Amino acid sequence: MGLLAQGTALDWPDAKKQAHLVRAWGIKQLLEIWNKAKVKERDAMLWGDEVEYLVVTYSKDDPKVLLSLRQADILAALADDKSLSAKGGCVPELQGDPASRTNEPLPVFHPEFGRFMLEATPGKPWGIEFKELLGVEPNMKLRRCIAKDHMLPNEHPITLTTFPRIGSPGVFTDPYYPVSGSKLRSQFVPDEIANPHIRFPTLAANIRSRRERKVQVNVPVFKDENTPWPWKDPTVNYDLHQWPEDDDVRTGGAAPDNFIHMDAMAFGMGSCCLQITFQAKNIIEGRQMYDQLSPLGPILLALTAATPIYKGFLADTDVRWNQISKAVDDRTAEEMGEKPLRNDRWRIPKSRYASNSTYISTDPRLRPEYLDPNLVIDEDIKQQLLDGGMDDRLATHFAHLFIRDPIVIFNEDLQELDLNKTDHFENIQSTNWQHMRFKPPPADNSIGWRVEFRPMEIQITDFENAAFAVFMVLITRVILSFDLSFYIPIAKVDENMETAHRRDAVLERKFHFRKNVFPVRPPRGNSGTSTPNSISRPPTPPRGPVEDEFRPMSVNEIINGTAYALGPDVEVDHEDDFPGLIPLVESYLDSVNVDVVTRCELATYLDLIRKRASGELWTAAKWIRHFVANHPAYARDSVVSEEITKDLVGAVVAIGEKEQKGEGFRGLDKQAAPDLGKLLGGFRGTSRCC
Ligand code: ADP
Ligand code: MG
Ligand code: MG
Ligand code: MG
Ligand code: MG
Ligand code: MG
Repeated sequence: MGLLAQGTALDWPDAKKQAHLVRAWGIKQLLEIWNKAKVKERDAMLWGDEVEYLVVTYSKDDPKVLLSLRQADILAALADDKSLSAKGGCVPELQGDPASRTNEPLPVFHPEFGRFMLEATPGKPWGIEFKELLGVEPNMKLRRCIAKDHMLPNEHPITLTTFPRIGSPGVFTDPYYPVSGSKLRSQFVPDEIANPHIRFPTLAANIRSRRERKVQVNVPVFKDENTPWPWKDPTVNYDLHQWPEDDDVRTGGAAPDNFIHMDAMAFGMGSCCLQITFQAKNIIEGRQMYDQLSPLGPILLALTAATPIYKGFLADTDVRWNQISKAVDDRTAEEMGEKPLRNDRWRIPKSRYASNSTYISTDPRLRPEYLDPNLVIDEDIKQQLLDGGMDDRLATHFAHLFIRDPIVIFNEDLQELDLNKTDHFENIQSTNWQHMRFKPPPADNSIGWRVEFRPMEIQITDFENAAFAVFMVLITRVILSFDLSFYIPIAKVDENMETAHRRDAVLERKFHFRKNVFPVRPPRGNSGTSTPNSISRPPTPPRGPVEDEFRPMSVNEIINGTAYALGPDVEVDHEDDFPGLIPLVESYLDSVNVDVVTRCELATYLDLIRKRASGELWTAAKWIRHFVANHPAYARDSVVSEEITKDLVGAVVAIGEKEQKGEGFRGLDKQAAPDLGKLLGGFRGTSRCC
């Protein structure tokens, strides 16, 4: 997230009255920047990652582990420390590392929705050099170290996606605040859980006001041996009478049986993720990257699954995505289709936080059948964009984003339209949280068209976060240089996104995936290596039914290839013989000049992903489930107690400290962290390939 605007934020009824103006001005700003930037060429292939942290208080002798709400103080300490002198304490170990960019700008720390969260990005985006890929992990470690150095001794930045007991009865924040506040009106979390900057409480309050009830974040509970069934969330209070919204659980059916019930934005936007932004050389390439990375979203979501606990209970799902989706779902009952349309303009099938609903590329391989025939768009806005010269496909994309109302509007911004800004456009754009984001250049046109890949869950270690970041960079290079097509109907991407939520989907489920990803089918037995590049794309061959273009595949097949996944003895039709994304990356690396050391380092990252996909290594979700299941205090009743939470967070803190010291992960207290090898493999500390 960028700089935070200051001003007077409008409450919902007033904001609603200005929504039309914000959209109208937003479209004008979009056309302005589009006209300026549509001819931009040869922007550098830069990219950057974003890592989000929870800040917890933890010490061995304290029976409680809590969320620290000192985000503002920590950010202030970081900002005051201009030279980040504390870097001194972080750098020595990294200095000897050839991959550490010691002269580069220092990392940048950003606020996030949760007052217990931090975000950190590298000081400057990464470049195209392969060697730069080796800088990512040391830089992530540096960020974590600097963050820790600006915290209290008992505070720790950890990269769990969610705090296991956020919203549980009792104390879970430091300092403690009682529920319930006027903004969130949650019966589980205080308003003080959110970043106090006016943008965030307003965002939460206006989402609630717009939908005329609290958000309903219901997650199926994991049914264990001793879980009472049907299960009623024992933490729900049916007898509160402070806010009108307290009726939601009494008369609104907000808390159904067998679901963990949550009622506030913090349960979603309080989750941490790993995002990667790529700059394209021009708008055409950006549109291509947007489309081709889109079908990979659910696959990477399943591979990075890390969210098996909510509000002190084991969930029956493994990832955070749908919970965030529900936590910011501002649709009214009419828009949801629960009531006939009277006041609202459309029925809208998805939350504003959801998998993306359109493809936008100019690629002739994009068949109309892949698109959603019922996509909801604002026809007037589309017409304005067409009149402004934008092509139909891109105009459709933005006219879809612009069906949403702006949620947070600052009165000061409504005086006059400033075409040297993109604030109104960004207002709508940045509250459409789709799994891909197409980012136009900023108003000054100083940087290029960018595409953001947003579905991945944050991983416990920087080794893993670096591995997934690097993998996505390599995959993007492969897509562009081999001119690959991962197109499947957008509705199938939606289905895959749901599938990714299932427990252990990475091993247990199949995903719709395109069978032939090459511009033309390569000769038999030679898939991957002899692929033509984008300059010589052949004419599109005759096309059969769309349904013949894809089939259900396991993540193992998608990542490692059919031969690897099924073993050498299983015969498959040539047509069904998928090469695998890692073998494609390998053949790409074979085709370019990478020195031996770099190649070896990259191999350690690819290895992690290969083994995740094959099941040899576990997702964090699986590791956390095992941790809970093996804990002596676990009663097989789905309850993740304070004691278990303390030990789990303690294990995660210990892993982080080991990683910071570069000691590798062997020898960690097995008692505290059973099965660690399954999560992290037998991997190294700082010792690098040579
Ligand atoms: P947001 O929260 O809106 O996604 P951030 O500024 O937090 O944006 O993160 C954007 C990421 O994009 C950072 O990792 C940053 O280093 C990276 N980045 C910045 N400029 C470029 C660029 N020109 N091309 C690609 N990535 C960039
Ligand atoms: Mg963020
Ligand atoms: Mg950010
Ligand atoms: Mg952001
Ligand atoms: Mg965020
Ligand atoms: Mg981002």
